[in-house]
Amino acid sequence: MNASTALVESVNLHKDFHGVEVLKGIDMLVAEGEVVCLLGPSGSGKTTFLRCINQLEVFNGGRLYVDGELLGLRDAGGTLHRLPDKQIARQRRQIGMVFQRFNLFPHKTALENVIEGPVQVGGVRKKEAVAEAKVLLERVGLAERADHYPSQLSGGQQQRVAIARALAMKPKLMLFDEPTSALDPELVGEVLAVMRELADDGMTMIVVTHEIAFARDVADRVVFMDGGVVVEEGPPSEVIRAPKHERTKTFLSRIL
Ligand code: ADP
Repeated sequence: MNASTALVESVNLHKDFHGVEVLKGIDMLVAEGEVVCLLGPSGSGKTTFLRCINQLEVFNGGRLYVDGELLGLRDAGGTLHRLPDKQIARQRRQIGMVFQRFNLFPHKTALENVIEGPVQVGGVRKKEAVAEAKVLLERVGLAERADHYPSQLSGGQQQRVAIARALAMKPKLMLFDEPTSALDPELVGEVLAVMRELADDGMTMIVVTHEIAFARDVADRVVFMDGGVVVEEGPPSEVIRAPKHERTKTFLSRIL
């Protein structure tokens, strides 16, 4: 894999909050079309890493490239160089993010939630956005619910709307931050099924999850993080079935 095929390249990425280092030099390459699952105990820096990729956090050191473009770096003198705001906004539009909480607009229907980004941010004409949103809602199995408000939908349905909403911006990369951990157990499967289809369609995805079966079956690569570092990574057949490191073994034994 070389830099030209890497959609995300993180080099020695550091991030601290008020002097406490939570990312201690993350190196990671994610190729186009790859599905990477990030596993690790709570507090290991997984969310912070995703937020750096999406530029919701400013990192303190190292380099991060998305689609070959350098998002920022801190030079030897300690000065932070970031992309100009306009380019940050453009980069963000290429990245879809799905959170643990669905964050839908409560006063808008499923369809209105999905068209919001394309119309307000993407400059797409409403008619066109509606047609595309209907296709996306169909894709996540919610064609019948287009006119429902979030409060009329189950958690699993809301999360599928959130996925459709992210896809409406035609992202190159989808980031998922524990997308099923706020759901009742019986609703987890329907969301994972949509994610699995996305993966099968070739979407590049970084997924923070505790769903080991999903990681085992869908991920091309599993990255195990602990304490702000990547402890080990590899295909699920190695990291999940035969972890090398004690910390990975302990973590897996707790959640399996
Ligand atoms: P994970 O996703 O693996 O649970 P996080 O990236 O959420 O880990 O958190 C890593 C560490 O950074 C934790 O100790 C957390 O308390 C801390 N942290 C995360 N966000 C902030 C913030 N905005 N301010 C201060 N500390 C934070």
